[in-house]
Amino acid sequence: MKQFNVAVIGATGMVGQRFISQLENHPWFHVTLVAASARSAGKTYEEAVGSRWAMSSPIPQAVKNLTVMDASADVEKIAAAVDFAFCAVDMPKNEIHELEERYAKAECPIMSNNSANRSYSDVPMIIPELNPEHAEIIPVQRKRLGTKRGFIAVKSNCSIQSYVPALHPLLKYGVTDVLACTYQAISGAGKTFQTWPEMVDNLIPYIGGEEEKSEQEPLKVWGKIENDQIVNAVSPSITTQCLRVPVSDGHTAAVFAKFREKPSIEQIKADWSAFRGVPQDLELPSAPKQFLHYFEENDRPQARLDRDLEGGMAVSIGRLRPDTQYDIKFVCLSHNTLRGAAGGGILMAELLAAKGYLD
Ligand code: NAP
Repeated sequence: MKQFNVAVIGATGMVGQRFISQLENHPWFHVTLVAASARSAGKTYEEAVGSRWAMSSPIPQAVKNLTVMDASADVEKIAAAVDFAFCAVDMPKNEIHELEERYAKAECPIMSNNSANRSYSDVPMIIPELNPEHAEIIPVQRKRLGTKRGFIAVKSNCSIQSYVPALHPLLKYGVTDVLACTYQAISGAGKTFQTWPEMVDNLIPYIGGEEEKSEQEPLKVWGKIENDQIVNAVSPSITTQCLRVPVSDGHTAAVFAKFREKPSIEQIKADWSAFRGVPQDLELPSAPKQFLHYFEENDRPQARLDRDLEGGMAVSIGRLRPDTQYDIKFVCLSHNTLRGAAGGGILMAELLAAKGYLD
């Protein structure tokens, strides 16, 4: 496989740090450039990230001494120096939309973890095992942007990364209604217990904008390309409540679902166990061998025990049983900054590289 020089934009943040640490020793992608706000620009990466470094392994040697560039002021220089960029910045939505388009128009493909471009009908929102075919919209987007190489591809929100994969192999039974309550880790807000001590022994029943994303984004992932746009699916009907809980990493969801043709509990477990996607078939470097893992134990999945399964790229499911109001209920878990952010972004880039979209 071709080797790619990549930039991480927003490299000093929580997701940016995950990119830096996940990409150390990546067989195809090499971080040769880091960018963040004007506050960090000009410093070495190590100085800029300072005490915010929250990963368990040290800052990779190859990145430590890179000089941080200004993500907004240096767009052309950055675009000219790398093959593509991962982007995870905390800025107002309209500014992120504009910034990512500036990179794409400068012919630098953007793998985005931000929500600003997710609703555009020619911007693919890819969970690689579920909707890899949405990449086929990229030529349409390139036409709109007037680019040869540049485009934006986005990852979905971290809150949906557990229950949408779990429901995906069950769509063939006609999933009509879904209720999901998510219990989301503090790293999802870019925080640790050191930087957010108020979260110790606490629960906050509100995460701004999260319920809307959790209800709408699955319908785009399950949409189809028609007449040069991604047309959202019209079902299932999804309702959610999203809570912030005192967990460092790992978003859990308690899920209820109704079907047109109700499958048996054993059939569902068999569907989960048999499920494979294009990343598994192509043996992409970050693909989990088994994407969906079912635990028979009543007290699993647990955030601390199971979030790192298959390098934090798998989804853990448990407690599948019949429900009195819906047909079934179950609990599922995914690592929010690995599969839900940096790892999912890297797997998406691997898919796009393997399919030739990053040439
Ligand atoms: P974060 O820890 O607050 O980091 C924010 C990053 O954005 C920093 O690198 C910061 O640079 C940079 N930044 C801020 N203002 C900027 C500006 N004006 N120009 C350029 N860079 C700027 O945030 P995060 O948790 O990593 O989240 C980043 C993005 O990923 C958000 O859009 C978030 O919604 C999304 N996301 C997060 C998660 C998660 O689990 N945390 C999951 C999926 C998606 P400085 O250090 O220089 O300020």
